Amino acid sequence: MSKEKFGIAIHGGAGTILRSKMTAEKEQAYRSALEIALDAGYAVLAKGGTSLAAVECAVIKLENCPLFNAGRGSVFNAKGEHEMDASIMDGKTLHAGAVAAVRNFKNPITLAHKVLLHSDHVLLMGEGAMEFAKPYALDMESDEYFHVDHRYAQWQKIKGSDSFQLDHAKEDKKYLGTVGAVALDMDGNLAAATSTGGMTNKKFGRIGDSPLIGLGNYANNKTCAVSCTGSGEYIMRGVTAYDISCLMEYKGLSLDEAANESVMKRLLDLGGDGGVIAIDAQGNISMPFNCDGMYRGMRNQERREVSIYG
Ligand code: ASP
Repeated sequence: MSKEKFGIAIHGGAGTILRSKMTAEKEQAYRSALEIALDAGYAVLAKGGTSLAAVECAVIKLENCPLFNAGRGSVFNAKGEHEMDASIMDGKTLHAGAVAAVRNFKNPITLAHKVLLHSDHVLLMGEGAMEFAKPYALDMESDEYFHVDHRYAQWQKIKGSDSFQLDHAKEDKKYLGTVGAVALDMDGNLAAATSTGGMTNKKFGRIGDSPLIGLGNYANNKTCAVSCTGSGEYIMRGVTAYDISCLMEYKGLSLDEAANESVMKRLLDLGGDGGVIAIDAQGNISMPFNCDGMYRGMRNQERREVSIYG
């Protein structure tokens, strides 16, 4: 029997433009982009679609928007290229699909979904992922499509150095980020999806937390679905997404308690900044972050809201 309750949460990255630098027009642009993605994902759920379809749909909208660091708006790596990571997980079956360091795919999340559906593997990278994709005729784009001016300017500032940074790092005033979605569908199934261009000036071949199941992305009907954003190297060491699920499963914490413990304490203690969006099997939603802001939104039958700051 179908359960009544369903809902979705999305993020467009932790860290935001400082409030003092935010103009009304920019804020409106972010809000509209988030609303488009949120409503698209929600519409899938409202029609009785699966949580997997809903999170993919929402993430595609965010990948197609140059404001966010995923798909079109992906940051430049140290070689001046765009290498993207993405993953998707089904909380009912615990099946997952992920791709790392892939280039020129318009929607890396769709490729990750193909890996979930049609491969015995969980994670494919680079040329191997490209080879795998051939039969599916996915949309490809030229390098120019991914050349977004503000990303290029960000890269120019640290190009040639050994440093790499979050696209929304404090020193850089262009605080834009990775994208993700988590959802609960009418049948009580959870799913999570995350997609990113990674970090500006990252080493060629660097893989972040986003395509790693249990680290940047996780879903399990027993507990919750989680998508992370923030400094990937810390989220990996904190095993953040699975940590939240474990705190619920083994320690009996509520979603909110678990997400807060993991993000506001454990990740912070490691020195990592970032945030998560999470939804549990009852439809509760939690979106803690330990930095200035996180582009985010949630929608269920009772509420629809989009926020940027704390
Ligand atoms: N977590 C992403 C990464 O490290 C970056 C981000 O969330 O902005 O690749």
